[in-house]
Amino acid sequence: MSALAPGSTIGIIGGGQLGRMLAMAAARLGYRTIVLDPEGDCPAAQVANEQIVAAYDDAHGLARLGTACDVVTYEFENVPVNAARSLAASHAVYPPPRALEVAQDRLTEKEFLNKAGIPTAPFRAVDSGAELTEALDIMGGSGVLKTRRLGYDGKGQKIFRDAGGDQTHGVYEGMGGVPLILEGFVPFATEISVVAARCQDGTSRAFDPAENLHRGGILKSSTVPAKVAPQTIEAARAATLRILDALDYVGVIGVEFFVLGDGSVIANEIAPRVHNSGHWTEAACAVSQFEQHIRAITGLPLGDPKRHSDCVMENLIGDEVGMVGELLAEPDLVLHLYGKSEARPGRKMGHFTRLMRRG
Ligand code: AMP
Repeated sequence: MSALAPGSTIGIIGGGQLGRMLAMAAARLGYRTIVLDPEGDCPAAQVANEQIVAAYDDAHGLARLGTACDVVTYEFENVPVNAARSLAASHAVYPPPRALEVAQDRLTEKEFLNKAGIPTAPFRAVDSGAELTEALDIMGGSGVLKTRRLGYDGKGQKIFRDAGGDQTHGVYEGMGGVPLILEGFVPFATEISVVAARCQDGTSRAFDPAENLHRGGILKSSTVPAKVAPQTIEAARAATLRILDALDYVGVIGVEFFVLGDGSVIANEIAPRVHNSGHWTEAACAVSQFEQHIRAITGLPLGDPKRHSDCVMENLIGDEVGMVGELLAEPDLVLHLYGKSEARPGRKMGHFTRLMRRG
């Protein structure tokens, strides 16, 4: 496919901060954007050309989006797979809906990763209280119990450490009686992620891995370069590129890894979209992850992912957004706010990247 001409229209399903930053990157490349989100005046709609106010699975809304756009993408992984598939039958939709299917269910995701030769934590599907007791026993009494679907930012999770069977009583029901997965507890030394892109001709490029710190299950900061061995970086990068090829992917992906004490990596999670741990690229690379995604889905050549500065990106969560005045006084700091009016606890309000110039 030849590249979409400037003035073409990109549809974005989902109107949060990721959609907002995609729309801004699209505008810089001369494209128009239409955002589909159930909430009017959402962060992405504030900077897009138009919004379709509709639910993510609203067939009529999606059809309108498809008809009005030259390509459709999404900014979050819980777009209903069937809705994405039916749209993809008649319109260009990137990344492929198969990537949504894999990323939406932690069991499918781990089976996909293992089949691609990428190690994960040991895991067992849990569909009843009895299965939980049995699975925890197999894992030696420690593990992380997660909902298979719709979990994010540590929501829908419970940690067991050296637990006996009595500690599982009522837990399955307490988590809503939905399909769960028990993962073995990974004694990781650190967590890293790779944000990479693949375009329609199969060319892939990866940004440098970020080292991530979570607080309360939410990403707090991403530091680049990650303080890990070169072999660790190579292993994470190679695994990410293998995932992109296995999914015949188009667009940007984020893959989170645990790094063990011996430097080996275990994949934790795939996000088939731009990723919070890639926000640093807007400040420390000539081409950000957002522009890279827009380039990939419109058929433009991918940009060079090398960084010109070391950096630390930090999220502004809830009332931390009150620090903005102080932050703006700092040199070499790039601030990004998402246009959300209410600073609720745990809500991502913005982020900033501190650049540490090299050489
Ligand atoms: P997730 O929602 O799967 O990304 O998990 C959120 C965070 O919980 C991860 O970034 C880790 O810090 C921690 N975590 C998740 N799964 C495990 C595991 N199997 N072992 C140890 N820590 C975990």
